[in-house]
Amino acid sequence: MAKRSHIAVISIPAFSHQASIVEFCKRLVEHHDHLHVTCIFPTIDAPLPATLTLLQSLPPNIHCTFLPPISKQDLPQHAPSPVQIQLAVSQSMPSLRHALSSLLSTTSLDALISDPFANESLEVAKVFNLLSYIYFPTSSMTLSLFLHLPTLHQQVPCAYRDHKEAIQLPGCVPIQGRDLPEHFHNRSSLAYDLLLRRCERLSLAQGFLVNSFSELEQGSERALQEYTNRVYLVGPVIQTGSSSDPKESECVRWLEKQRPNSVLYLSFGSGGTLSQQQLSELAFGLELSGHNFLWVLRVPNDTPDAAYVVGSNDDPLRFLPDGFLERTQARGLVVTSWAPQAQILGHASTGGFLTHCGWNSALESIVFGVPMVTWPLFAEQRLNAVLLTEGVRVGLRPKFNENGLAEREDIAQVVQDVMVGEEGNEIRSRIEKLKVAAADALKEDGSSTRALYQFGTQMANFLGQP
Ligand code: UDP
Repeated sequence: MAKRSHIAVISIPAFSHQASIVEFCKRLVEHHDHLHVTCIFPTIDAPLPATLTLLQSLPPNIHCTFLPPISKQDLPQHAPSPVQIQLAVSQSMPSLRHALSSLLSTTSLDALISDPFANESLEVAKVFNLLSYIYFPTSSMTLSLFLHLPTLHQQVPCAYRDHKEAIQLPGCVPIQGRDLPEHFHNRSSLAYDLLLRRCERLSLAQGFLVNSFSELEQGSERALQEYTNRVYLVGPVIQTGSSSDPKESECVRWLEKQRPNSVLYLSFGSGGTLSQQQLSELAFGLELSGHNFLWVLRVPNDTPDAAYVVGSNDDPLRFLPDGFLERTQARGLVVTSWAPQAQILGHASTGGFLTHCGWNSALESIVFGVPMVTWPLFAEQRLNAVLLTEGVRVGLRPKFNENGLAEREDIAQVVQDVMVGEEGNEIRSRIEKLKVAAADALKEDGSSTRALYQFGTQMANFLGQP
Protein backbone atom coordinates (compact mmCIF):
# COMPACT_ATOMS: atom_id res chain seq x y z
CA MET A 1 0.00 0.00 0.00
CA ALA A 2 1.79 3.10 -1.20
CA LYS A 3 -0.50 5.91 0.00
CA ARG A 4 -1.33 6.43 3.65
CA SER A 5 -4.44 4.37 4.44
CA HIS A 6 -6.65 4.19 7.47
CA ILE A 7 -8.54 1.07 8.52
CA ALA A 8 -11.16 0.65 11.25
CA VAL A 9 -11.18 -2.72 13.00
CA ILE A 10 -14.19 -4.00 14.98
CA SER A 11 -13.99 -6.74 17.60
CA ILE A 12 -16.41 -8.27 20.14
CA PRO A 13 -16.45 -8.23 23.96
CA ALA A 14 -14.48 -11.49 24.38
CA PHE A 15 -10.84 -11.49 25.40
CA SER A 16 -9.53 -14.10 22.98
CA HIS A 17 -11.11 -12.33 19.98
CA GLN A 18 -9.80 -8.93 21.09
CA ALA A 19 -6.31 -10.29 21.76
CA SER A 20 -6.19 -12.04 18.39
CA ILE A 21 -7.35 -9.05 16.34
CA VAL A 22 -4.96 -6.69 18.18
CA GLU A 23 -2.02 -9.01 17.46
CA PHE A 24 -3.15 -9.18 13.84
CA CYS A 25 -3.23 -5.36 13.65
CA LYS A 26 0.33 -5.22 14.97
CA ARG A 27 1.43 -7.59 12.25
CA LEU A 28 -0.50 -5.62 9.65
CA VAL A 29 1.13 -2.26 10.45
CA GLU A 30 4.54 -3.92 10.76
CA HIS A 31 4.28 -5.02 7.13
CA HIS A 32 2.38 -1.98 5.81
CA ASP A 33 3.99 1.02 7.43
CA HIS A 34 1.72 3.47 5.61
CA LEU A 35 -1.24 2.06 7.43
CA HIS A 36 -3.04 3.56 10.40
CA VAL A 37 -5.48 1.38 12.38
CA THR A 38 -8.28 2.31 14.79
CA CYS A 39 -9.54 -0.66 16.81
CA ILE A 40 -13.09 -0.28 18.04
CA PHE A 41 -14.36 -2.48 20.89
CA PRO A 42 -18.03 -2.97 21.75
CA THR A 43 -18.17 -3.45 25.53
CA ILE A 44 -20.33 -5.16 28.15
CA ASP A 45 -20.29 -3.18 31.44
CA ALA A 46 -16.59 -2.19 31.19
CA PRO A 47 -13.46 -2.95 29.13
CA LEU A 48 -11.93 -6.34 29.96
CA PRO A 49 -8.93 -5.91 32.32
CA ALA A 50 -6.82 -8.43 30.35
CA THR A 51 -7.46 -6.42 27.18
CA LEU A 52 -6.47 -3.16 28.87
CA THR A 53 -3.14 -4.77 29.79
CA LEU A 54 -2.70 -5.85 26.21
CA LEU A 55 -3.27 -2.33 24.89
CA GLN A 56 -0.49 -0.85 26.99
CA SER A 57 2.16 -1.64 24.42
CA LEU A 58 0.83 -0.71 21.00
CA PRO A 59 2.79 0.90 18.16
CA PRO A 60 1.93 4.58 17.51
CA ASN A 61 -0.08 3.84 14.35
CA ILE A 62 -2.67 1.73 16.22
CA HIS A 63 -5.32 3.49 18.28
CA CYS A 64 -8.08 1.89 20.30
CA THR A 65 -11.48 3.09 21.36
CA PHE A 66 -14.19 1.46 23.50
CA LEU A 67 -17.81 2.00 22.53
CA PRO A 68 -20.21 3.09 25.31
CA PRO A 69 -20.83 -0.08 27.35
CA ILE A 70 -23.98 -2.15 27.08
CA SER A 71 -25.18 -3.05 30.56
CA LYS A 72 -25.12 -6.78 31.32
CA GLN A 73 -28.41 -6.26 33.15
CA ASP A 74 -30.06 -5.22 29.89
CA LEU A 75 -29.10 -8.52 28.22
CA PRO A 76 -31.28 -11.63 28.64
CA GLN A 77 -29.88 -13.07 31.90
CA HIS A 78 -30.30 -16.73 31.02
CA ALA A 79 -29.13 -16.54 27.42
CA PRO A 80 -25.89 -18.38 26.59
CA SER A 81 -22.76 -16.20 26.63
CA PRO A 82 -22.37 -16.12 22.82
CA VAL A 83 -25.95 -14.86 22.50
CA GLN A 84 -25.35 -12.18 25.11
CA ILE A 85 -22.17 -11.13 23.32
CA GLN A 86 -23.96 -11.13 19.99
CA LEU A 87 -26.84 -9.01 21.31
CA ALA A 88 -24.43 -6.57 22.95
CA VAL A 89 -22.65 -6.18 19.62
CA SER A 90 -25.96 -5.61 17.80
CA GLN A 91 -26.98 -3.00 20.37
CA SER A 92 -23.62 -1.28 19.85
CA MET A 93 -24.16 -0.69 16.13
CA PRO A 94 -25.60 2.85 16.55
CA SER A 95 -22.51 3.76 18.60
CA LEU A 96 -20.31 2.20 15.93
CA ARG A 97 -21.94 4.35 13.25
CA HIS A 98 -21.37 7.37 15.42
CA ALA A 99 -17.71 6.42 16.01
CA LEU A 100 -17.10 5.88 12.28
CA SER A 101 -18.81 9.07 11.37
CA SER A 102 -16.67 11.10 13.79
CA LEU A 103 -13.54 9.34 12.50
CA LEU A 104 -14.56 10.24 8.96
CA SER A 105 -14.99 13.88 9.94
CA THR A 106 -11.29 14.10 10.80
CA THR A 107 -9.60 11.54 8.57
CA SER A 108 -10.18 9.59 5.39
CA LEU A 109 -11.13 6.01 6.19
CA ASP A 110 -10.61 3.32 3.54
CA ALA A 111 -11.72 0.01 4.93
CA LEU A 112 -13.27 -1.80 7.81
CA ILE A 113 -12.14 -5.18 9.12
CA SER A 114 -14.64 -6.97 11.33
CA ASP A 115 -14.72 -9.95 13.63
CA PRO A 116 -17.21 -12.49 12.14
CA PHE A 117 -19.38 -12.10 15.27
CA ALA A 118 -19.62 -8.34 14.69
CA ASN A 119 -20.42 -8.60 11.03
CA GLU A 120 -23.47 -6.33 11.16
CA SER A 121 -20.67 -3.80 10.76
CA LEU A 122 -20.34 -4.94 7.13
CA GLU A 123 -23.70 -3.28 6.52
CA VAL A 124 -22.46 -0.14 8.29
CA ALA A 125 -19.35 -0.20 6.07
CA LYS A 126 -21.59 -0.11 2.99
CA VAL A 127 -23.36 3.01 4.31
CA PHE A 128 -19.99 4.76 4.62
CA ASN A 129 -18.75 3.37 1.32
CA LEU A 130 -15.83 1.52 2.91
CA LEU A 131 -14.16 -1.67 1.73
CA SER A 132 -15.02 -4.46 4.14
CA TYR A 133 -13.15 -7.55 5.28
CA ILE A 134 -13.53 -10.21 7.92
CA TYR A 135 -10.70 -11.11 10.27
CA PHE A 136 -11.54 -14.71 11.11
CA PRO A 137 -9.80 -15.59 14.42
CA THR A 138 -10.27 -19.35 14.07
CA SER A 139 -9.51 -22.04 11.50
CA SER A 140 -10.22 -21.97 7.78
CA MET A 141 -12.20 -25.19 8.38
CA THR A 142 -14.58 -23.18 10.61
CA LEU A 143 -14.73 -20.41 8.00
CA SER A 144 -15.67 -23.07 5.47
CA LEU A 145 -18.43 -24.32 7.79
CA PHE A 146 -19.77 -20.79 8.24
CA LEU A 147 -19.74 -20.12 4.49
CA HIS A 148 -21.54 -23.42 3.84
CA LEU A 149 -24.08 -23.16 6.64
CA PRO A 150 -26.82 -21.48 4.55
CA THR A 151 -26.56 -24.43 2.09
CA LEU A 152 -26.35 -27.06 4.85
CA HIS A 153 -29.40 -25.48 6.43
CA GLN A 154 -31.34 -26.17 3.22
CA GLN A 155 -29.86 -29.60 2.53
CA VAL A 156 -29.89 -31.32 5.93
CA PRO A 157 -33.51 -32.10 6.81
CA CYS A 158 -32.93 -33.38 10.37
CA ALA A 159 -31.04 -32.20 13.45
CA TYR A 160 -27.35 -32.09 12.53
CA ARG A 161 -26.44 -34.48 15.34
CA ASP A 162 -28.87 -37.11 13.89
CA HIS A 163 -27.46 -36.78 10.38
CA LYS A 164 -26.21 -40.29 9.49
CA GLU A 165 -23.37 -39.35 7.17
CA ALA A 166 -20.42 -37.21 8.15
CA ILE A 167 -20.52 -33.65 6.88
CA GLN A 168 -17.86 -33.21 4.22
CA LEU A 169 -16.72 -29.64 3.81
CA PRO A 170 -14.51 -29.21 0.73
CA GLY A 171 -10.88 -30.02 1.52
CA CYS A 172 -11.56 -30.72 5.23
CA VAL A 173 -11.59 -33.85 7.37
CA PRO A 174 -15.15 -35.24 7.59
CA ILE A 175 -17.12 -33.94 10.60
CA GLN A 176 -19.75 -35.90 12.53
CA GLY A 177 -22.91 -33.86 13.15
CA ARG A 178 -22.36 -34.13 16.93
CA ASP A 179 -19.03 -32.29 16.57
CA LEU A 180 -20.64 -29.14 15.18
CA PRO A 181 -20.80 -26.16 17.56
CA GLU A 182 -23.61 -26.62 20.12
CA HIS A 183 -25.73 -23.76 18.73
CA PHE A 184 -26.19 -25.72 15.51
CA HIS A 185 -28.21 -28.33 17.33
CA ASN A 186 -31.38 -26.52 18.22
CA ARG A 187 -32.47 -25.08 14.92
CA SER A 188 -35.39 -23.23 16.44
CA SER A 189 -33.21 -21.40 18.98
CA LEU A 190 -32.30 -17.72 18.90
CA ALA A 191 -28.61 -18.73 18.97
CA TYR A 192 -28.96 -20.73 15.73
CA ASP A 193 -30.98 -18.00 14.08
CA LEU A 194 -28.36 -15.38 14.93
CA LEU A 195 -25.63 -17.70 13.67
CA LEU A 196 -27.39 -18.39 10.38
CA ARG A 197 -27.96 -14.70 9.74
CA ARG A 198 -24.35 -13.99 10.60
CA CYS A 199 -23.19 -16.64 8.14
CA GLU A 200 -25.42 -15.24 5.38
CA ARG A 201 -23.96 -11.78 5.97
CA LEU A 202 -20.44 -13.06 5.27
CA SER A 203 -21.17 -12.69 1.56
CA LEU A 204 -20.97 -8.91 2.02
CA ALA A 205 -17.23 -9.12 2.76
CA GLN A 206 -14.64 -8.31 0.10
CA GLY A 207 -12.25 -10.85 1.58
CA PHE A 208 -11.30 -13.01 4.56
CA LEU A 209 -8.15 -12.81 6.65
CA VAL A 210 -7.85 -16.11 8.49
CA ASN A 211 -5.75 -16.89 11.57
CA SER A 212 -4.27 -20.08 10.18
CA PHE A 213 -1.44 -21.04 7.84
CA SER A 214 -1.23 -22.96 4.57
CA GLU A 215 0.79 -25.88 5.91
CA LEU A 216 -1.79 -26.50 8.65
CA GLU A 217 -4.89 -26.34 6.49
CA GLN A 218 -3.78 -26.85 2.91
CA GLY A 219 -6.91 -28.72 1.80
CA SER A 220 -9.46 -26.26 3.10
CA GLU A 221 -7.38 -23.28 1.97
CA ARG A 222 -7.33 -24.59 -1.59
CA ALA A 223 -11.06 -25.35 -1.55
CA LEU A 224 -11.88 -21.93 -0.10
CA GLN A 225 -9.82 -20.22 -2.77
CA GLU A 226 -11.93 -21.92 -5.41
CA TYR A 227 -14.96 -20.47 -3.68
CA THR A 228 -13.50 -16.99 -3.37
CA ASN A 229 -9.98 -15.99 -4.37
CA ARG A 230 -9.88 -13.47 -1.56
CA VAL A 231 -9.05 -15.76 1.35
CA TYR A 232 -5.76 -14.91 3.05
CA LEU A 233 -4.25 -17.27 5.61
CA VAL A 234 -2.15 -14.87 7.68
CA GLY A 235 -1.44 -16.83 10.89
CA PRO A 236 -0.43 -18.10 13.27
CA VAL A 237 -1.27 -14.84 14.99
CA ILE A 238 -0.71 -15.59 18.67
CA GLN A 239 -0.18 -13.73 21.88
CA THR A 240 3.35 -13.62 23.11
CA GLY A 241 2.24 -12.67 26.64
CA SER A 242 3.12 -9.80 28.89
CA SER A 243 6.22 -9.93 31.03
CA SER A 244 4.46 -7.87 33.73
CA ASP A 245 2.14 -10.78 34.55
CA PRO A 246 2.63 -11.40 38.32
CA LYS A 247 1.86 -15.11 37.96
CA GLU A 248 4.63 -15.53 35.43
CA SER A 249 7.40 -15.73 37.98
CA GLU A 250 5.53 -18.28 40.14
CA CYS A 251 4.85 -20.60 37.19
CA VAL A 252 8.24 -20.18 35.54
CA ARG A 253 10.08 -20.64 38.86
CA TRP A 254 8.20 -23.90 39.38
CA LEU A 255 8.76 -25.07 35.79
CA GLU A 256 12.49 -24.38 36.16
CA LYS A 257 12.64 -27.15 38.78
CA GLN A 258 11.06 -29.82 36.55
CA ARG A 259 12.62 -32.14 33.98
CA PRO A 260 12.35 -31.30 30.24
CA ASN A 261 9.01 -32.33 28.69
CA SER A 262 7.77 -33.71 32.02
CA VAL A 263 4.87 -31.32 32.77
CA LEU A 264 1.30 -31.53 31.52
CA TYR A 265 -0.21 -28.04 31.37
CA LEU A 266 -4.02 -27.91 31.75
CA SER A 267 -6.18 -24.95 30.81
CA PHE A 268 -9.68 -24.40 29.46
CA GLY A 269 -9.10 -20.96 27.95
CA SER A 270 -10.24 -17.57 29.12
CA GLY A 271 -13.65 -18.75 30.38
CA GLY A 272 -14.13 -22.52 30.04
CA THR A 273 -15.40 -24.43 33.08
CA LEU A 274 -16.00 -28.07 34.07
CA SER A 275 -18.82 -29.40 36.22
CA GLN A 276 -17.93 -30.24 39.84
CA GLN A 277 -18.12 -33.97 39.04
CA GLN A 278 -15.82 -33.62 36.03
CA LEU A 279 -13.40 -31.40 37.92
CA SER A 280 -13.08 -34.07 40.65
CA GLU A 281 -12.65 -36.83 38.10
CA LEU A 282 -9.91 -34.84 36.36
CA ALA A 283 -8.12 -34.29 39.68
CA PHE A 284 -8.21 -38.04 40.45
CA GLY A 285 -7.12 -38.80 36.88
CA LEU A 286 -4.08 -36.55 37.31
CA GLU A 287 -3.21 -38.28 40.57
CA LEU A 288 -3.53 -41.70 38.93
CA SER A 289 -1.39 -40.69 35.95
CA GLY A 290 1.60 -39.96 38.17
CA HIS A 291 2.71 -37.14 35.84
CA ASN A 292 3.77 -33.63 36.77
CA PHE A 293 1.14 -31.01 36.04
CA LEU A 294 0.43 -27.29 36.04
CA TRP A 295 -3.33 -26.75 36.21
CA VAL A 296 -5.17 -23.46 35.71
CA LEU A 297 -8.18 -24.07 37.93
CA ARG A 298 -11.49 -22.28 37.65
CA VAL A 299 -14.63 -22.51 39.83
CA PRO A 300 -16.78 -25.36 38.45
CA ASN A 301 -20.01 -24.68 36.60
CA ASP A 302 -22.40 -26.99 34.74
CA THR A 303 -22.51 -24.51 31.86
CA PRO A 304 -19.08 -24.77 30.22
CA ASP A 305 -18.96 -21.20 28.89
CA ALA A 306 -20.52 -19.61 32.00
CA ALA A 307 -17.38 -17.75 33.04
CA TYR A 308 -16.91 -16.28 29.57
CA VAL A 309 -18.82 -13.08 30.27
CA VAL A 310 -18.73 -12.97 34.10
CA GLY A 311 -16.32 -14.92 36.31
CA SER A 312 -16.94 -16.18 39.85
CA ASN A 313 -15.49 -14.63 43.00
CA ASP A 314 -15.31 -18.00 44.80
CA ASP A 315 -11.96 -19.60 45.57
CA PRO A 316 -11.48 -22.40 42.98
CA LEU A 317 -9.21 -24.38 45.34
CA ARG A 318 -12.07 -25.29 47.63
CA PHE A 319 -13.66 -27.36 44.83
CA LEU A 320 -10.74 -29.80 44.64
CA PRO A 321 -11.07 -33.26 46.25
CA ASP A 322 -10.03 -33.32 49.92
CA GLY A 323 -6.28 -33.62 50.34
CA PHE A 324 -5.55 -33.33 46.60
CA LEU A 325 -3.10 -30.44 46.95
CA GLU A 326 -1.20 -32.15 49.78
CA ARG A 327 -0.99 -35.48 47.95
CA THR A 328 0.27 -33.89 44.72
CA GLN A 329 2.40 -31.05 46.06
CA ALA A 330 5.65 -32.69 45.02
CA ARG A 331 4.69 -32.82 41.37
CA GLY A 332 1.84 -30.43 40.74
CA LEU A 333 1.16 -26.69 40.71
CA VAL A 334 -2.41 -25.39 40.73
CA VAL A 335 -2.89 -21.72 39.84
CA THR A 336 -6.29 -20.10 40.03
CA SER A 337 -8.22 -18.65 37.10
CA TRP A 338 -5.37 -17.37 34.91
CA ALA A 339 -1.78 -18.25 33.99
CA PRO A 340 0.80 -16.84 31.55
CA GLN A 341 0.04 -19.44 28.88
CA ALA A 342 2.56 -18.46 26.21
CA GLN A 343 5.42 -18.56 28.73
CA ILE A 344 4.28 -21.94 30.04
CA LEU A 345 3.89 -23.52 26.60
CA GLY A 346 7.25 -22.09 25.57
CA HIS A 347 9.05 -23.57 28.59
CA ALA A 348 11.24 -26.64 28.04
CA SER A 349 9.66 -28.48 30.98
CA THR A 350 6.20 -28.43 29.39
CA GLY A 351 5.64 -31.66 27.49
CA GLY A 352 1.87 -31.78 26.99
CA PHE A 353 -1.17 -29.51 26.96
CA LEU A 354 -4.63 -30.62 28.01
CA THR A 355 -6.65 -27.98 26.20
CA HIS A 356 -10.26 -27.03 25.52
CA CYS A 357 -9.10 -26.48 21.91
CA GLY A 358 -9.88 -22.78 21.69
CA TRP A 359 -8.20 -21.82 18.43
CA ASN A 360 -5.67 -19.52 20.07
CA SER A 361 -4.63 -22.26 22.48
CA ALA A 362 -4.37 -24.77 19.63
CA LEU A 363 -2.16 -22.41 17.60
CA GLU A 364 -0.02 -21.57 20.62
CA SER A 365 0.52 -25.29 21.26
CA ILE A 366 1.58 -25.75 17.62
CA VAL A 367 3.88 -22.71 17.68
CA PHE A 368 5.65 -24.13 20.76
CA GLY A 369 5.52 -27.74 19.54
CA VAL A 370 3.54 -29.14 22.50
CA PRO A 371 1.45 -32.34 21.96
CA MET A 372 -2.19 -32.03 23.05
CA VAL A 373 -4.90 -33.85 24.94
CA THR A 374 -7.96 -32.37 23.25
CA TRP A 375 -10.91 -31.67 25.55
CA PRO A 376 -13.34 -29.41 23.65
CA LEU A 377 -16.11 -27.71 25.62
CA PHE A 378 -18.14 -25.30 23.47
CA ALA A 379 -18.27 -23.07 20.36
CA GLU A 380 -16.20 -24.43 17.45
CA GLN A 381 -13.82 -26.31 19.79
CA ARG A 382 -15.03 -29.79 18.75
CA LEU A 383 -14.28 -28.89 15.16
CA ASN A 384 -10.78 -27.79 16.17
CA ALA A 385 -10.35 -31.07 18.07
CA VAL A 386 -11.28 -33.03 14.92
CA LEU A 387 -8.69 -31.11 12.91
CA LEU A 388 -6.02 -31.61 15.59
CA THR A 389 -6.64 -35.31 16.25
CA GLU A 390 -7.85 -36.63 12.88
CA GLY A 391 -6.50 -34.05 10.45
CA VAL A 392 -2.94 -33.13 11.45
CA ARG A 393 -2.84 -35.75 14.26
CA VAL A 394 -1.04 -33.75 16.93
CA GLY A 395 -3.30 -34.68 19.83
CA LEU A 396 -5.38 -37.44 21.39
CA ARG A 397 -8.96 -37.19 22.54
CA PRO A 398 -9.91 -38.72 25.92
CA LYS A 399 -12.77 -41.19 26.11
CA PHE A 400 -16.08 -39.76 27.40
CA ASN A 401 -18.79 -42.10 28.75
CA GLU A 402 -22.44 -42.09 27.69
CA ASN A 403 -23.11 -39.25 30.19
CA GLY A 404 -20.41 -37.12 28.63
CA LEU A 405 -18.04 -37.64 31.58
CA ALA A 406 -14.35 -38.50 31.18
CA GLU A 407 -13.54 -40.98 33.95
CA ARG A 408 -10.33 -40.91 36.00
CA GLU A 409 -8.83 -44.13 34.53
CA ASP A 410 -9.41 -42.90 30.96
CA ILE A 411 -7.93 -39.51 31.82
CA ALA A 412 -4.84 -41.14 33.34
CA GLN A 413 -4.52 -43.31 30.22
CA VAL A 414 -4.72 -40.47 27.70
CA VAL A 415 -2.24 -38.39 29.72
CA GLN A 416 0.12 -41.36 29.76
CA ASP A 417 -0.32 -41.90 26.00
CA VAL A 418 0.46 -38.28 25.13
CA MET A 419 3.29 -37.72 27.63
CA VAL A 420 5.33 -40.91 27.23
CA GLY A 421 3.66 -43.49 24.97
CA GLU A 422 4.77 -44.54 21.50
CA GLU A 423 1.81 -42.66 20.06
CA GLY A 424 2.93 -39.64 22.07
CA ASN A 425 6.36 -39.82 20.45
CA GLU A 426 4.81 -39.87 16.97
CA ILE A 427 2.63 -36.91 17.89
CA ARG A 428 5.68 -35.08 19.21
CA SER A 429 7.55 -35.58 15.95
CA ARG A 430 4.52 -34.44 13.88
CA ILE A 431 3.98 -31.30 15.97
CA GLU A 432 7.71 -30.49 15.80
CA LYS A 433 7.39 -30.38 11.99
CA LEU A 434 4.29 -28.23 12.24
CA LYS A 435 6.12 -25.91 14.64
CA VAL A 436 8.82 -25.36 12.01
CA ALA A 437 6.18 -24.83 9.30
CA ALA A 438 4.41 -22.26 11.52
CA ALA A 439 7.66 -20.33 12.02
CA ASP A 440 8.43 -20.52 8.28
CA ALA A 441 4.96 -19.19 7.37
CA LEU A 442 5.75 -15.98 9.28
CA LYS A 443 9.17 -15.37 7.73
CA GLU A 444 9.53 -12.55 5.20
CA ASP A 445 9.04 -14.94 2.27
CA GLY A 446 6.68 -17.27 4.18
CA SER A 447 3.15 -18.09 3.01
CA SER A 448 1.39 -15.98 5.66
CA THR A 449 3.55 -12.90 5.10
CA ARG A 450 3.01 -13.17 1.35
CA ALA A 451 -0.75 -13.45 1.98
CA LEU A 452 -0.61 -10.26 4.05
CA TYR A 453 1.13 -8.43 1.19
CA GLN A 454 -1.43 -9.80 -1.30
CA PHE A 455 -4.18 -8.44 0.91
CA GLY A 456 -2.51 -5.01 0.89
CA THR A 457 -2.17 -5.10 -2.90
CA GLN A 458 -5.77 -6.12 -3.39
CA MET A 459 -6.97 -3.35 -1.10
CA ALA A 460 -4.85 -0.81 -2.97
CA ASN A 461 -6.31 -2.06 -6.27
CA PHE A 462 -9.83 -1.62 -4.95
CA LEU A 463 -8.96 1.88 -3.81
CA GLY A 464 -7.48 2.65 -7.22
CA GLN A 465 -4.03 3.30 -5.74
CA PRO A 466 -0.94 2.57 -7.81
N1 UDP B 1 -4.96 -17.46 28.20
C1 UDP B 1 -3.92 -17.17 29.05
N2 UDP B 1 -3.99 -17.65 30.31
C2 UDP B 1 -5.02 -18.40 30.78
C3 UDP B 1 -6.08 -18.70 29.89
C4 UDP B 1 -6.01 -18.21 28.60
O1 UDP B 1 -2.94 -16.50 28.67
O2 UDP B 1 -5.00 -18.80 31.94
C5 UDP B 1 -4.90 -16.96 26.81
C6 UDP B 1 -4.41 -18.04 25.87
O3 UDP B 1 -3.00 -17.98 25.77
C7 UDP B 1 -5.12 -17.71 24.59
C8 UDP B 1 -6.41 -17.06 25.04
O4 UDP B 1 -6.21 -16.63 26.38
O5 UDP B 1 -4.37 -16.77 23.83
C9 UDP B 1 -7.56 -18.06 25.02
O6 UDP B 1 -8.02 -18.16 23.71
P1 UDP B 1 -8.64 -19.47 23.13
O7 UDP B 1 -9.03 -19.19 21.72
O8 UDP B 1 -7.71 -20.61 23.32
O9 UDP B 1 -9.88 -19.80 24.02
P2 UDP B 1 -11.16 -18.94 24.51
O10 UDP B 1 -10.71 -18.10 25.62
O11 UDP B 1 -11.66 -18.14 23.33
O12 UDP B 1 -12.14 -19.98 24.94
